[in-house]
Amino acid sequence: MRKKIVAGNWKMNKTITEGLSLIEAIKTGAPKVQKAGVDIIVAPTYVMLSDAAKAVNGSSIKLAAQNCHQEESGAYTGEISATMIQAIGAEYIIIGHSERRQYFNETSASIAKKINVVLSKGLTPIYCNGEVKEERESGRHFEVVKRQMNDELFHLSAEEVLKVVVAYEPVWAIGTGLTASPDQAQEIHAFIRQLLTDKYGAAVAEEISILYGGSCKPDNAKEIFSKKDVDGGLIGGAALKAEDFLGIVAAF
Ligand code: PEP
Repeated sequence: MRKKIVAGNWKMNKTITEGLSLIEAIKTGAPKVQKAGVDIIVAPTYVMLSDAAKAVNGSSIKLAAQNCHQEESGAYTGEISATMIQAIGAEYIIIGHSERRQYFNETSASIAKKINVVLSKGLTPIYCNGEVKEERESGRHFEVVKRQMNDELFHLSAEEVLKVVVAYEPVWAIGTGLTASPDQAQEIHAFIRQLLTDKYGAAVAEEISILYGGSCKPDNAKEIFSKKDVDGGLIGGAALKAEDFLGIVAAF
């Protein structure tokens, strides 16, 4: 049975003190809303990962980093490796977020390498893909997502891909207040699962969690999560307030 997941991407928000209070509030509220089989993940900034690892220890909350470098170590000033993240105790790393693609020139080649390095450390990549507004408006979203999956994910073996979480995030819906309708989300999640089936077979594809991301809020999460191929959400803005984030967790 594939996992249901609600993951909060905090982006460049929260000081360590603020972030630790948010974790405390999520820890306090989670037992009231978290159903069996639903994982909660938080992805704070690198600077508080170590404190966050201690704070979530022994709770039902799991820890992710927001990015890593594609090399294991070396002369890459300012960068952080998957090895360092693993040593801290995080279990997940978000890879290929659209903001990394847009503002930090991440390419399909670097994303593919990052996925490899994350897996080589025994961690789980939360692999993001999705189309921009013009691509959706010109009906090219299926083609775009297919190309991304081919170039960034499909070099993996079946055994490796089973360790990946996919997050479909239409770029036009991220931080904009626009959301894919539940039917739009289901349509493309089913397409992604079909691509996985074509490449790896149905038994593998059925085990892979596919999250939706893009202005997911407590008031729209229930309907989106009710769709057959939507296994949860990658949450940006609404992950910054415990009440909103827990409201989304409660939507399952
Ligand atoms: C995200 O950045 O992954 C995201 C989904 O952001 P938001 O929920 O703010 O649209």
